[in-house]
Amino acid sequence: MSQTDDDYEYDLFVDGAFRPGASGDRIDVSFPYDGTVWATVPRGTATDVDRAVAAARDAFEGPWSEFGGSERRRVLDQIADAIDAHTEELAELETRQNGKLVREMRGQMESLSDWYRYYGGLAEDLGGRTIPVENKSETGGMLAYTRKEPLGVVGAITPWNSPLMLTTWKLAPALAAGNTFVHKPSEETPVSALRFAELVAQHTDLPDGVYNVVPGHGTEAGAALVDHEGVDKLAFTGSTTVGRDIASAAGERLIPVTLELGGKSPNIVFESADLENAVNGVVKGIFAATGQTCVAGSRVFVHESIHDEFVDAFTERAADVTLGNPLDPETQMGPVAFRDQWETVRSYVERGAEEGATVAFGGDRPDDLPGECFIEPTVLVDVDNDMTVAREEIFGPVASVIPFADEDEVVDLANDTDYGLAAGVWTEDMRQANRLVERIDAGMVWVNEYRAVSHKVPFGGYKDSGIGRENGAEALDEYVQTKSVWYDQSGDVSDPFSLG
Ligand code: NAD
Repeated sequence: MSQTDDDYEYDLFVDGAFRPGASGDRIDVSFPYDGTVWATVPRGTATDVDRAVAAARDAFEGPWSEFGGSERRRVLDQIADAIDAHTEELAELETRQNGKLVREMRGQMESLSDWYRYYGGLAEDLGGRTIPVENKSETGGMLAYTRKEPLGVVGAITPWNSPLMLTTWKLAPALAAGNTFVHKPSEETPVSALRFAELVAQHTDLPDGVYNVVPGHGTEAGAALVDHEGVDKLAFTGSTTVGRDIASAAGERLIPVTLELGGKSPNIVFESADLENAVNGVVKGIFAATGQTCVAGSRVFVHESIHDEFVDAFTERAADVTLGNPLDPETQMGPVAFRDQWETVRSYVERGAEEGATVAFGGDRPDDLPGECFIEPTVLVDVDNDMTVAREEIFGPVASVIPFADEDEVVDLANDTDYGLAAGVWTEDMRQANRLVERIDAGMVWVNEYRAVSHKVPFGGYKDSGIGRENGAEALDEYVQTKSVWYDQSGDVSDPFSLG
């Protein structure tokens, strides 16, 4: 690896060291703000994945298996300390890869260590249950208990929108449970994963081979990891289309899989809402991160009695958003991550207009900014829930505003989607909020807030938004298997043809 102040040339990270990729080919990484290439990484192949899985297997069966819960906690604390000492550098790397605001990336990096400390605590306390069983009670009974054991080698594949945070949501519980890890980061954002691996190697006692990073394309390195016979569990965050293929591959090999996929989340504003708060919450849901979040509140349902007032206030706020260089702390919205994504967002705006929506604000490239990736915050009105813009994930700053007449209608509209990741409810009527919480089919509901996350609170979706949960104690269950153990206290197996 070579690194100057601004340029990074990493190799792939396998078995505790940086090594050249088998193909010799490299992938360019550019800054979406102006298109400058500032890093290259190897284009990983099936051969590289093979080496990484072999290293992870050796570490799983060898040195890592000797780390008990307290030892794993100590190493997870060391990872947390290494992150805390490098938050500013990591935040800048994230921004230079994906163009998201450095102030958001800084916030993510400052909280990242919480995950390692939290799962470290759970590692120390990772136990099963003792279960009273009454078989043979007249002769002394049985003792039964469970053990939580690791699965083995985890294959993890992550997207570009929050690279290190979404890696951490998998890596921290996987290590806490005693697994080893092979990571294929997005081809758009591989640098922070490699720098993170370097920090782990330099500052912690994690044995070689426990954490491996093979950058590369999804259809090459990603597919090789998904299909590898040596992988015992797959953890994926990304699009529903790719997630479905990964679930099929996991089904074929009968290995467990965690999937965090796309969304088309409803953000619902009732007539009793504090309007200013609700407008801010809707802005937070769809314009923060340039709309490139899986939980984006892209369908904005507004009660018909306040629809026009809301649209006026919302478009005014949209017009006020400061676009610019994501490294500038004053910027509120940066570019989308790459040119193809810009084309996708723009084509959805055009499709919306063709199907009858009205562009109340935005929809175009602002003419005073560099590069090819800026798109204005966009407000579509006259949207029907059946239009393409209301059904498909756009993954950009495009809000579709849809009026509703009453609670039953908005519940039907909110649930009329293939997805079920998140929802927002804006109301001062807490009984109404509670009814909505119960009736909406989504893995997460925020009341008078949007896009809050914590290492302690489960995160995941219903329906086509995924399988399993990340974060919270629930995530640890995704990385263990349960062994049930029986002890016969009676010493009496005299009737071998009876059960128990
Ligand atoms: P993507 O599905 O195109 O790619 C995600 C990852 O999968 C990348 O690393 C890519 O290289 C890899 N990949 C692509 N094809 C593959 C294949 N055939 N086999 C194996 N790996 C393959 O998604 P993206 O464009 O990077 O990210 C955006 C998507 O991620 C959106 O749909 C968004 O909603 C979703 N997302 C979900 C969450 C969540 O927690 N639910 C969080 C962030 C993003």
